[in-house]
Amino acid sequence: MVIDMTRDSSGGLSPSFVIESAVRSYCRRFPMTFTTASGSTITSTEGRTYLDFLAGCSALNYGHNDPDLVTALVDYLTRNGVVQGLDLQTEAKADFLDAFRSLVLEPAGLEYRVQFTGPTGANSVEAAIKLARKVTGRSSIIAFTNGYHGVSLGALALTGNISHRTQLGFPMVGAQRAFFDGYLGPDIDTAALLDRVLSDPSSGFEPPAGVILETVQGEGGLNAASPQWVRSIAEVTRRHGGLFIVDDIQAGCGRTGPFFSFAEFGVVPDLVTLSKSISGIGLPMALLLIRPEFDIWNPAEHNGTFRGNNLAFVAAAEALRKFWTDDSLRVAADRRAGIVAAALADIARTSFPDARVVGRGMFRGLNVGDGAVADAVCREAFERGLVIETSGAHDEVVKVLAPLTTPDDQLRDGLEILAAAARSVTSGRPPMAVGA
Ligand code: PMP
Repeated sequence: MVIDMTRDSSGGLSPSFVIESAVRSYCRRFPMTFTTASGSTITSTEGRTYLDFLAGCSALNYGHNDPDLVTALVDYLTRNGVVQGLDLQTEAKADFLDAFRSLVLEPAGLEYRVQFTGPTGANSVEAAIKLARKVTGRSSIIAFTNGYHGVSLGALALTGNISHRTQLGFPMVGAQRAFFDGYLGPDIDTAALLDRVLSDPSSGFEPPAGVILETVQGEGGLNAASPQWVRSIAEVTRRHGGLFIVDDIQAGCGRTGPFFSFAEFGVVPDLVTLSKSISGIGLPMALLLIRPEFDIWNPAEHNGTFRGNNLAFVAAAEALRKFWTDDSLRVAADRRAGIVAAALADIARTSFPDARVVGRGMFRGLNVGDGAVADAVCREAFERGLVIETSGAHDEVVKVLAPLTTPDDQLRDGLEILAAAARSVTSGRPPMAVGA
C-alpha cells in the first residue's frame, strides 16, 4: 500500500500520537483509534464497529481474539508459564513442535527441521537466504518482479517495489531479478527464460544460491503463479544448483486453502518461510522450515533474543489443534473463497467491466487497473464500515483478506459494502461522511 500523506488525519484524533514517527502507515489510511477486536470485527474508541478485511495483513487468518486461544493464553500466564525463553527448551515450545509435526508436517508428508528465527517475516527471510548462501557457497539470490519479502537489508534486496527500495543510501546487493509467472504475458514461459539465462555463461546471470518466490504475490497484486510454473522454477533452480525457497509468510496458514500454499503443486521446497498467522492470534512469531540435509547451521549462527516467544507458541499450538485437526476450516474457507470470488466478479460486471478477479482461495483481489480508483473504493468502503487495503505495483488491486473464519453473513455484508463503495465511486457520488 502506498500511503497518501495528504489524507493523514490521525494527528487530529488524539495528542498521544503526535510523538509517533512519520513512518507510521496503516493508521493514516484508517485514522481511528481502535480499542477492541473480536472475530472479523474491530471497534474504535467512538464505538463504531468495522468489518476487518485487512486482518493484520493475513496475520489474523483465524480472526481477532479467538476465545479458545485467549483462554489458552490466560491459563498459561495465570500458571506463570515461561514467557521469554530465548531458545531454551520450554513445555510450550515442545507442545508447539509436537502439534506442528503431527498436524501439519506429517499429514502433508513433509520432513523439515524447524528453525525459530527472530519474530518477523523479514527475519525468517534473512535466515533463509543466509542459509542458502552457506549451503551453496554462492551469493546471489533470484527473486521475482513484484515480489515482497520484507524490508530488512537482505530481504529488501529481494523486494521489488521501488517505494521501499529508494532513499536507502546504501547499495542493495546479492539479488538478481527474474520475471514472475505471466509478467511478460500469457505466451511467454518465464521459467524457460530463467533456465535459458542460467544456462548461458555469458548472460550476465550468476549461478544462484537460491530462488525465492511467493506462490501468490500478496503485496505485488495478488498474482497467482500456476502450479506448473512453480514446478518448473523448482526444477530450474535445482538444475542450476540453487535452493528452492517458498516465502509462505502471507500465503501460508490456510490463506489459499491448504496449510501450505504449495501443498497441491507437487513440489517440496528446500526452505519455507512462515510467519504472520502461524501464532494464530497475531503474536509475533516466525519460522524457517529446512530440509534436514540443509540444516548445516552452527549453534547460534543465526541468533536473536526473541526466538522464544512462548505466548506465541501457546496460541500457535492451540490454533493448530483447533483449526487443523480435521478439514472443517479448509472446507469452510473453500466455500467462502467461492463467495468472495463470485462477489468480486459481480462488482467487476456492475462497476468495472475491465477489472479482473485475481488471487487464489481467500487470498483474492479485484484488479481495477488504476491505483486512484482502487484507493477511492477502499476509502469509501472504510467510510461505510469496512477496513480494506490495496495491493499491486500501482496499488491497483482491492485486496480482500477476510479472516478464513469470517461467518458467511459477515462476509456477505463486507462484500456488499465493497460493492456499494464501488458503485458510489463509479457513479461519482460524494463519499458518505464518517460515522454515517
Ligand atoms: N514475505 C512476505 C510474502 C510478506 O507478505 C511479508 C509481509 N507483508 C514479509 C515477507 C515480511 O514480513 P514482516 O513484515 O513480518 O517482516
